[in-house]
Amino acid sequence: MKRVLTTCPYCGVGCGFYLDVRDGRIVGIIPSKSNIVSKGYLCVKGWHAHEPVEHPDRLKKPLIKENGKFKEASWGSALDYVAGRLKELKDKYGPDALSVCTSARCTNEENFLMMKFARAVLGTNNVDHCARTCHVPTVAGLNQSFGSGASTNSYDEIPFMDCILIIGSNPTEAHPIVGWRVRTAIDNGTKIIVCDPRKILPAENASVYIQHYPGSDIALINAMIQFIVSEGLHDKEFIAKRTEGFDVFWEVVKDYTPESIRDTTGVEPALIKQAAKLYATSKRSCIMYSLGMTEHTVGTDNVIAMANLSMVCGHVGKEFSGLYPMRGQNNVQGACDMGALPNVYSGYQPVTDEDVRKKFENAWAVSLPTANGLTLTDMIFKAIEGSLKCFYIIGEDQLRTDPNTHWIEKALDSLEFLVVQEIFMSETAKKADVVLPGASFAEKDGTFTCAERRFQRVRKAIEPIAGKTDGQIICELAKRLGYPMDADPEQACAEMASLTPLFRGVSFKRLEENGLQWPVYSKEHPGTPVVHLEKFIRGLGKFIPVKHKPPAETPDSEYPFILTTGRMLFHYNTGTMTRRTTNLLREHPRNFVQINPLDAQKLGVKSEEKVRVKTRRGELEVWPEVTDKIKAGVLWMPFHFSDQPTNVLTNNAFDPVCRIGEYKACAARVEKPSS
Ligand code: SF4
Repeated sequence: MKRVLTTCPYCGVGCGFYLDVRDGRIVGIIPSKSNIVSKGYLCVKGWHAHEPVEHPDRLKKPLIKENGKFKEASWGSALDYVAGRLKELKDKYGPDALSVCTSARCTNEENFLMMKFARAVLGTNNVDHCARTCHVPTVAGLNQSFGSGASTNSYDEIPFMDCILIIGSNPTEAHPIVGWRVRTAIDNGTKIIVCDPRKILPAENASVYIQHYPGSDIALINAMIQFIVSEGLHDKEFIAKRTEGFDVFWEVVKDYTPESIRDTTGVEPALIKQAAKLYATSKRSCIMYSLGMTEHTVGTDNVIAMANLSMVCGHVGKEFSGLYPMRGQNNVQGACDMGALPNVYSGYQPVTDEDVRKKFENAWAVSLPTANGLTLTDMIFKAIEGSLKCFYIIGEDQLRTDPNTHWIEKALDSLEFLVVQEIFMSETAKKADVVLPGASFAEKDGTFTCAERRFQRVRKAIEPIAGKTDGQIICELAKRLGYPMDADPEQACAEMASLTPLFRGVSFKRLEENGLQWPVYSKEHPGTPVVHLEKFIRGLGKFIPVKHKPPAETPDSEYPFILTTGRMLFHYNTGTMTRRTTNLLREHPRNFVQINPLDAQKLGVKSEEKVRVKTRRGELEVWPEVTDKIKAGVLWMPFHFSDQPTNVLTNNAFDPVCRIGEYKACAARVEKPSS
């Protein structure tokens, strides 16, 4: 038996474990005690991460659709066919009629190769990935405030905080090994503030629990800032020395008294003042947030509001403080870092910067497109309009992950050519003209970057089940299109590092032990556990005033509830892997809606009778869970069940800056199925 040390393929925490391999098959998982992230612990998903790898449903052969039915094809003929169609469409409509969706499930090296494929081979900047539906507001927002759109500090500081403000994040279920650190902090005496429409587990031990309405976060945070400054609890020295724009910012925020936003948030002013005082006066305070803050039409402004709060109190740019944007997917941080975005190359180097573009053109010996490409959201609009003809999707089930399923379906049906590279037959793959079987985390070498900006090694335990890694597939297509690319992961990492100042010192060799936290500016640079220490990456931290704006849809007499969505401990995203894992499926086999007992009583809803949840976009029949964990007037649903897809209900309204959809607040009603 051999033991292969690798990184968990589920959430963005980045735990380390060994895959036990016997006779070419994975037979078990053992946590790595020396892993700096997980220290010998794993959550229930991590313990079972090997089970879907060799599941009988795995796609093993390329499939080409003929007369509406898939037929198995050899790799050679499938790749010839895909390359031929890509060339034909590029020649006929131009490169910007094509687009690539890369994958936060794939390695950094594969994401680097995919963005290179889009830009250097297809000739378009139309490349994006699922950060568009999770943390792209973090990239856009923190970048404006601090000059870098990622976590400011490290996980190991969490248990030693004096105060942790958890807002729009459920670490116990969505990021359990960070949730464990929060639990350790509570045991150490750390004061917890939880702001969430759902009474999540840390709220049980919170010093202050604020159950505000979904979509009222800016009002809440601005009111905290207003109280802090009015009471003289702000860090005047930090504001004077390390920031700019405070006076203009204060002119906007000074009107947000806790009393004035009582109806907007549904929260008593005294509670807001208590939270504000605790956060401001604690010596070591941090903010932990996730998709509850970003998946809004004001997602970018929500992130900026949190950055403002941290700067007002001087709780950033030092150890034991800062912001922790908890990333959802195993490598969504890395996919952003690698430039799988329409406006930047690796390391957030703008595609519109001529010097940067010349550097990549020289290295790749090709002319590169000069304008920003389309975001994933705008690819959908353009497909429906008819100007986008081809979509190459890798490891993403957009028909289940994106808001308003019917709208996405219309876009996919409008394309002339859809290629999906996947490990299982997803709903999106069923729509494809060609399905190429990809490889799981256990079948490849490379790196993932977790939510604390740490590059960590991923190591191959078994041979690719369908014969090729995702990087090899892309490179073989590139070769057929006349641009040979090297699929070797170590070589791709070296090329990426040579072109990217932020990651210049990254190499497989240096990642062997505990990885490295970026920035890593040179081969000698030790990595960066805390960023913005002496000064912010942009120089001075920037106060940017943001105002409360209601969600795109608010409750009315026809749809009187606010529907919000989230993650559960036992499942992951669309459940592609966790619903193929016996023990996880056993715990939660079906979708449900949480409803407050007061609302259930008014509607006559009983736990043993299904209900119909309806929005302006669709409806679903699900089982109700009557619980006072959810605020009255609010419904909560998970989004892991592809046969009962919650996203038929969610709203395809988008943040104007970063184009993320509003998954976290839309108007809904509940009916009995018989009505
Ligand atoms: Fe995997 Fe996240 Fe669980 Fe760690 S916390 S074992 S990374 S799913």
